[in-house]
Amino acid sequence: MIESAKIVYLDNNATTALEPAVLEAMMPFLTECYGNPSAGYSLGALARKAIERAREQVAALIGCSASEIVFTSSGTEADNTALNSALALDPQKQHIVTTSVEHSAIAKHCEDHVRRDGHVTFLRINEQGALDLNELEAAIRPDTALVSVMWANNETGILFPIEEIAAIARRKGVLFHTDAVQAVGKIPIRLADSNINFLSLSAHKLHGPKGVGALFVNSQTRFRPTLFGGGQENGRRSGTENVASIVGLGAAAECAAAKAEEEKTRVPQMRDRLERELLERIPNLLVNGDRASRLPNTTNLTFTGVEAQSVLLMLDQKGVCCSAASACRTGSAEPSRVLSAMGLSRERALSSLRFSFSRCNSDHDVMRAIEIIPSVVKKLRAFAPPSAVSA
Ligand code: PLP
Repeated sequence: MIESAKIVYLDNNATTALEPAVLEAMMPFLTECYGNPSAGYSLGALARKAIERAREQVAALIGCSASEIVFTSSGTEADNTALNSALALDPQKQHIVTTSVEHSAIAKHCEDHVRRDGHVTFLRINEQGALDLNELEAAIRPDTALVSVMWANNETGILFPIEEIAAIARRKGVLFHTDAVQAVGKIPIRLADSNINFLSLSAHKLHGPKGVGALFVNSQTRFRPTLFGGGQENGRRSGTENVASIVGLGAAAECAAAKAEEEKTRVPQMRDRLERELLERIPNLLVNGDRASRLPNTTNLTFTGVEAQSVLLMLDQKGVCCSAASACRTGSAEPSRVLSAMGLSRERALSSLRFSFSRCNSDHDVMRAIEIIPSVVKKLRAFAPPSAVSA
């Protein structure tokens, strides 16, 4: 067993620790309350009631009505379902507008759509991580089914102006989806009266269990399911519900709402202190993306002249967890697709690491990271040619 007490966990965009209150809420549904929610007796009704409570808790966190929440097996499934639904409405409308920095749950679906003779416009991003909204508007065509833009980038934390983008899509008469997997629970979101048709979220990014997510489907939006079968989720997502995990997602959403203030204050203070102290102690350290417009918990840094994979391994030996790219890509030597799309050189992208905080981190974690990271970088730079270390 890993001694988690000794770990400085700074990879909260990959996943988060389960909140104790979430585990407590889930336990009865992993043990004595095992009824099928579709069953007609009271053991089933207990599970059904718990699911409906979770639906309300999730809806409260993102400011929509409970009937607009469809539970899924993951953020990935929610993303895929939104795209599938939009594309299924009209065979004449098979064009998607998206960005070149989306998570693979969107990017790979779009690549597959192109392989099936569909059309996708991948919008460019500038070095700050920002989109040109005029370019976005111009990319919408008469055959566009959907615009899909993530709320916050998983690697850099950069936020896109989602309300503005949704308004453009509405004005142009096309559907709008946002992958808000990294945003929900970290920044305030209110969907009531918004122009957003679909929004994806995932429990394990907000101190809930893995393997459960949700898709917000605006009540006025036509929807076509991806999974057919027993008609669960009001016919919108078949398959016997993962009751314990759905209850966990609901509890995590309630905790996130109750602790929103902490996310707004203590979390960015820890991130900013780490960034400030590392910039002071490590020469030629660069921050990637616009620091003014990003999640409160994320920083993406280039350690000029050293390979991020080597830093990652040495930090791991010292108990510090961070990420060299998105979690799914760890172990790959290819530069991050996101940083490359922002125009960063291959060398710079391969020298970049993401540190992401959560409310489970402490000032002690920040102090340990400030002690350990500069010494690791110094050691590795001793082996690098001096020309590689200058910015
Ligand atoms: N979208 C974004 C932006 C993510 O960061 C992730 C997970 O890393 C996902 C989607 C996929 O979510 P899940 O892990 O629940 O499938």
